[in-house]
Amino acid sequence: MSERTLAIIKPDAVKKHVIGDIIHRYEQVGLKPVAMKMLSMSKSVAEGFYAVHKARPFFGSLCDFMSSGPAVVLVLQGDNAIKKNRELMGATDPAKADAGTIRNAHGTNIEFNAVHGSDSPETAQFEIGYFFPGMEIFN
Ligand code: ADP
Ligand code: MG
Repeated sequence: MSERTLAIIKPDAVKKHVIGDIIHRYEQVGLKPVAMKMLSMSKSVAEGFYAVHKARPFFGSLCDFMSSGPAVVLVLQGDNAIKKNRELMGATDPAKADAGTIRNAHGTNIEFNAVHGSDSPETAQFEIGYFFPGMEIFN
């Protein structure tokens, strides 16, 4: 079933000049970009995006990281896009991410891990709407 997921190429990956490599990986597995933009999140925008994690000890550091420079946010569309993107990303901790995954290739540590991907249909809906109005998403 075709679905949509929200992906972010995080500030660490933008600084490493691997935007093109990561988008190529999405396209190679059939995750089609249907919306995309570069933006630099304010701290409060990052806090709103990660509100689900606000009780976690790493919340402040995570929001500082996500607002540390430009990121690329995308909507990816394809069959089982949410699960497919999670598999392509690899484990949260790059040291545990399988060979061939984005985090294995480009992650630095459990915080600076190169990419974000929605983890369920409910979070995908919230996250896509957080960054993109419907008129900026294409088929
Ligand atoms: P994922 O991005 O794989 O869905 P989580 O939703 O658990 O992982 O965490 C959101 C983000 O918070 C991670 O991608 C990572 O940047 C950061 N993070 C997660 N766990 C830790 C941790 N133990 N220490 C520091 N940062 C973390
Ligand atoms: Mg998550």
